[in-house]
Amino acid sequence: MSTLQRLLILGSTGSIGASTLDVVARHPQRFSVHALTANRNIDKLFQQCQAFHPALAIVGGAEDAMQLQARLRAAQLRTEVAHGADALCQAAGSGGCDTVVAAIVGAAGLLPTLSAARAGKKILLANKEALVMSGALFMRAVRESGAVLLPVDSEHNAIFQCLPHSSGSGLGVERLILTASGGPFRTRPLATLADVTPDQACAHPNWVMGRKISVDSATMINKGLEVIEAHWLFDMPAQRIDVLIHPQSIIHSMVVYSDQSVLAQLGNPDMRTPIAHALAYPERIVSGVAPLDLATIATLTFEMPDMARFPCLRLAFDVIRNGGGASAMLNAANEVAVAAFLAGRIRFTEIERVIGATLQGMPAADASSIEGVLEMDRRAREIAQATVKHLSG
Ligand code: NAD
Ligand code: MG
Repeated sequence: MSTLQRLLILGSTGSIGASTLDVVARHPQRFSVHALTANRNIDKLFQQCQAFHPALAIVGGAEDAMQLQARLRAAQLRTEVAHGADALCQAAGSGGCDTVVAAIVGAAGLLPTLSAARAGKKILLANKEALVMSGALFMRAVRESGAVLLPVDSEHNAIFQCLPHSSGSGLGVERLILTASGGPFRTRPLATLADVTPDQACAHPNWVMGRKISVDSATMINKGLEVIEAHWLFDMPAQRIDVLIHPQSIIHSMVVYSDQSVLAQLGNPDMRTPIAHALAYPERIVSGVAPLDLATIATLTFEMPDMARFPCLRLAFDVIRNGGGASAMLNAANEVAVAAFLAGRIRFTEIERVIGATLQGMPAADASSIEGVLEMDRRAREIAQATVKHLSG
């Protein structure tokens, strides 16, 4: 048995955060929880503190921090409370934890995850946006510090499991195939897409996820972000990464070798499998996921994505074909557009227009420093917000 792993979970109150704690609770002799973090959901964070007794809890704002601290004291829990982005970065790089689960959604996760990378932590990466924004910088930080980066995103975790792991045997990997469910609108009549509601967009047929990634799956831009993510994680040219729709979400992705062997990883669509894999790697632990019953599933099907149906995926492919320099802009514009759609300000079909206008509205800038990346993110958000205002006004 390995020594106790001390975890910091960035975004513990979210979908990935809660699934992580579900796996952790099954293995108290293996994991201890050093710190938990949430943006605003202090009710859930309080419950998690009661269950896992972390040394530290971090929230977004000062007011929430005071409230949470008072409740913890009243419950005679010794968890310290901090707040704000700097506290997240400090905790993620501190000696209190050796493993950081990066499960904040969106660009807000970048700096704390980068801090963990610079400090040489074991990082379980769910927050794909961080890698999309700053892949080169992030991977360099990982190499220089000796951090261990383990993918939690189900496709990337599947590919990681199918790749050879003895050094030097990476030769012979020809292509990666990322599977995609096609989301809730794969077969919906195209003319009706303009009128879909946020709840319809978030009703994913196979996965239960946070609302932002659910909308990303409905537009399929999620798969574009995942191609960029795979490019950085596996050092694979994007031209050798394919996207294949597989509506049942049983095959989570595949690796094609030069002898035309294709290795796939299968399982029920439940994030606790990739989370448990990454938590225990290279060992295997119980995840709580139901056994895969292929006889009952009976049929696995595949098809190519239709770019007329998924124009946001086409925009992501355009960014990739142009060298990926505009990845941070693509991500920022998408975050703004999805938030506006979820808030009822723009239509589902206008998400593409916001992203397209942003990509056209500014040149890709220098992404070789974190300041450059954050500046690109900030400017892209301004243009995207202006487009949202125009569309909703
Ligand atoms: P979620 O919305 O359910 O949870 C997000 C978490 O981040 C919450 O704990 C929230 O409090 C925190 N957070 C949000 N904004 C913040 C901010 N500004 N500062 C600090 N904390 C903040 O999201 P999720 O579905 O769990 O997804 C998390 C990440 O994992 C995303 O990057 C997503 O793409 C990725 N991912 C999720 C799934 C899934 O099944 N949910 C699968 C693959 C990848
Ligand atoms: Mg995924």
